[in-house]
Amino acid sequence: MMGLLKGMGVTLKTMSKKKVTYQYPDEPVGMPDRFRGVQHFDPEKCIVCNQCVRVCPTDCITLTGRKHPDPGKRGKIIDTYDINFEICILCDLCTEVCPTEAVVMTNHFELAAYSRDDLFKNMEWLHENNTEIRSENNVNAKR
Ligand code: SF4
Ligand code: SF4
Repeated sequence: MMGLLKGMGVTLKTMSKKKVTYQYPDEPVGMPDRFRGVQHFDPEKCIVCNQCVRVCPTDCITLTGRKHPDPGKRGKIIDTYDINFEICILCDLCTEVCPTEAVVMTNHFELAAYSRDDLFKNMEWLHENNTEIRSENNVNAKR
């Protein structure tokens, strides 16, 4: 009998406490700002320096660029930028080395797909993935 009363006591005490669980996916889960989520890429900022490709431990970034078509301008422009999320480990190294913050982390983590091909994201997809950018990147981004 005592055990039953004790159990009921715990239940009643817990009922009045704030919930710690979420009704995911109906309710979005807010991730902490240092969370390493799927990258956003801004082609306008990329200088095709290849540092992200060189540092990537899983070789999941591929890019192509070319000399700036305007003879009055120096440097290169980006043509294609792809990340294979089958093997990306979201380690953050590519965003750490990028000198212009062309590639930055977001808090977005939902990548579930039925086909592996859907995990191969191109420049357009990465550019449109522009919500929930980490606030430290938003503040420091050179525009
Ligand atoms: S997060 Fe890491 S594994 Fe993924 S693309 Fe960047 S460097 Fe490569
Ligand atoms: S490190 Fe940044 S600027 Fe350099 S190629 Fe990668 S995304 Fe572009």
